[in-house]
Amino acid sequence: MDTELNPLQQAVIDALGVPPDWEPLPAEIVVSIEAQLTEALAPIKDLFTPEDPLRINKHHIATVHGCEKYHVLNRQSQFAWNINTVRGTIAHKAIELLINWRGAVIPSEIVDAAITSVAENPRESASDFIISLPAHELAELRGAVVGAVSNFLECFPPIRPQWRPLVEYSASYSLFGGTVLFTSRMDLVLGHPGRKVIIDLKTGRLTPTHRDDLRFYALIETLRSRQPPRSLGSYSLDSARLDEEDVTEGLLQSAVRRTANGTLLIADLVLKTRQPEVRPGFQCRWCPENETCEVGMKYLRQL
Ligand code: SF4
Repeated sequence: MDTELNPLQQAVIDALGVPPDWEPLPAEIVVSIEAQLTEALAPIKDLFTPEDPLRINKHHIATVHGCEKYHVLNRQSQFAWNINTVRGTIAHKAIELLINWRGAVIPSEIVDAAITSVAENPRESASDFIISLPAHELAELRGAVVGAVSNFLECFPPIRPQWRPLVEYSASYSLFGGTVLFTSRMDLVLGHPGRKVIIDLKTGRLTPTHRDDLRFYALIETLRSRQPPRSLGSYSLDSARLDEEDVTEGLLQSAVRRTANGTLLIADLVLKTRQPEVRPGFQCRWCPENETCEVGMKYLRQL
């Protein structure tokens, strides 16, 4: 028997459900966008090797379109976990557990199971960070994720098995014999091939960058599976807000242009064929150079 949905849950179904007149995009579009990407990236065709490919993900594309110097600094530095980043990881794990949870659904129990699952899995890179947290920070993390999971339970419709949910779904696509490699990891994918809905679950506020990230995912999934997804959505676990858009030919073409432009810029910077450009923006707030970079310091003083 169907569970009665509250108005917020129903709004998500209304936004992401398959419209009666929906039709998949023509198959030729996949060939066309692949040809556009291949042609645009032809200048870097022979500049990398399968052993050491040019790796591109959504974060690389987003940062290189901001400040190139910040992008280079990010690429060079080792990723370090902090409470904010690990919060997203635990929230995703909790939602993954929730989808397969049997018995009473109690957010704090699911979050505890998620923390244990990540902490005790040596293949999880967040494992050591979680184990090293002092008790008060672990309690803070737990509280924040319990809040996010409670919001998800209250505002997102219960996920049915027939929607074929996939959490932390990885997809990749390569060009030129594996020398340029695009990778993606999607928080939540619902639906059958050819009509998938890709959802990014956000623990912070929604920003325009989130749409660009999802369009990148749509492009990689289209090229990998040869079938465009149907729809994209950023879902804020904090505000229970969904920002969704349909996948169209125009959306995929815009993703090709942004991805191709960004990839060419990244190739220049990786090969050091020019100096990175400095462009101030919101990223200056957490840039490691923000106490020495004149441009960034001036920008921050004006905020
Ligand atoms: S402080 Fe701002 S402008 Fe300067 S390098 Fe960092 S991100 Fe770029």
